[in-house]
Amino acid sequence: MLRVAVIGSGPSGVYTAQSLVEQEAVPDVEVYVLDRLPCPYGLVRYGVAPDHEKIKSLQGNLRTVLEHPRVHFLGNVEVGTPGLGAAELREIFHAVVFCVGAATDRHLGIPGEDLPGSRSATEFVAWYSAHPDAAAAHFALEARSAVVIGVGNVAVDVARILARGAAELAGTDMPQGALGALADSRVEDVWMVGRRGPSQAKFTTKELRELGSLPGTEVLVRPEELALDPAYADPGGLPAVARRNIEVLRGWAERPVAKGSAGTAPLRRIHLRFFLRPVEMTGDAASGVRAVRFERTAPDGRGGVTGTGEYEDIAAQLVLRSVGYRGTPQAGLPFDEAHGTVPHRAGRVLRDGDVFPGVYVAGWIKRGPSGVIGTNRPCAKETAASLLEDAATLARRETADDPVAALREAGQSPVPWSGWLAIESAEAEWGRRLGRGTVKLPDWERLLEAAHVVG
Ligand code: NAP
Repeated sequence: MLRVAVIGSGPSGVYTAQSLVEQEAVPDVEVYVLDRLPCPYGLVRYGVAPDHEKIKSLQGNLRTVLEHPRVHFLGNVEVGTPGLGAAELREIFHAVVFCVGAATDRHLGIPGEDLPGSRSATEFVAWYSAHPDAAAAHFALEARSAVVIGVGNVAVDVARILARGAAELAGTDMPQGALGALADSRVEDVWMVGRRGPSQAKFTTKELRELGSLPGTEVLVRPEELALDPAYADPGGLPAVARRNIEVLRGWAERPVAKGSAGTAPLRRIHLRFFLRPVEMTGDAASGVRAVRFERTAPDGRGGVTGTGEYEDIAAQLVLRSVGYRGTPQAGLPFDEAHGTVPHRAGRVLRDGDVFPGVYVAGWIKRGPSGVIGTNRPCAKETAASLLEDAATLARRETADDPVAALREAGQSPVPWSGWLAIESAEAEWGRRLGRGTVKLPDWERLLEAAHVVG
């Protein structure tokens, strides 16, 4: 019997568990999937936007793995607390695979970034996704103009949620507080701003195109700004996604008509802007952010941009910084500060250049926050293959007889799969009482109470 702990139950953790139990070379692999939250699925539950039901439905596939007879989900287990670092986990399990993602957001490092009203997109996502750590976060959405900095898929998500009416979101599992705030939202203009050109934007075409089909929302682009990008006139040499993005943007530039039903004025506008680098947020501590000052940039011919010394202010009472995630150091593990990842070779963690026996990584903490959910499959497979290659050596070590008891001794109160199922039922019941479908419980107290873990 080879007992493996997988830390994190998002796609990378679950695909790692799947790769470990769905192979025949090493029989009797038993996987314990530990998560800090009492709920599984990581960013599929707490990152994928609530109106992206198709991607959300991936939870069904992840669930099948977590219900495998040799996979055990244990929520509410906080790895990294005193007494439960990599070394202690190795006393309990033969091997540990860290699949903890990239837990924090990157910063801009510009003056005014911390003014009231300037928030990270990850906080906004956590709030509308009912992440229990964001239970105290609130977005009053009294702003008329919101600036989203960055042109990746998270930026598209938050711009879309700001533009969508609450009526359209009522059928999702969005928490009641966020739905109410969106219903009262006064946001009319959403500015999504990239520091480089349209051919370098990180969003994918399906996500971009969706902005053009939001009822009551007009998407505005500036043809002269798009044309600053040399690839706009001749996108032939671009990678397929960038080429398709340009086609969508060109469509909007050539027909900048209001979306929604014919004849009705749009309720909201999404302005897509490029070649603007944020340099400062203006405002004051009492009234909050008033505008974002951008320096206009120009392509440098090598994929980057240079400043032009010309500035433009975009008025905003809400700013969402959507400039990417960043991995955080894990207790007892080496950490590459420059990349926000754990150094590894094919998933085997490297300590001072040598393999840290029995400790592995997969997902964003291994390769950085990029790619779509499916990118985690080959990444997890590679790590699982390394672990299975090491299986004979790993299995020789003595470990705890009862991992759950050992975790309890380490001060944890694990929520088993049945506890998660109880949370699911409580969320369905909560939704029924609100006259909606399933509605997520937004705080630790109610989640743990539903899972029958009190105190
Ligand atoms: P991302 O794709 O890395 O995009 C980050 C954006 O921030 C880029 O436009 C980047 O511009 C910009 N940026 C970085 N530093 C900046 C600065 N100092 N000033 C101005 N702009 C700056 O990150 P993300 O949007 O957080 O997404 C993370 C991952 O999750 C991606 O792989 C994404 O595809 C995935 N995701 C997918 C979906 C989906 O499939 N529906 C939804 C959400 C997230 P530069 O390119 O110039 O650096």
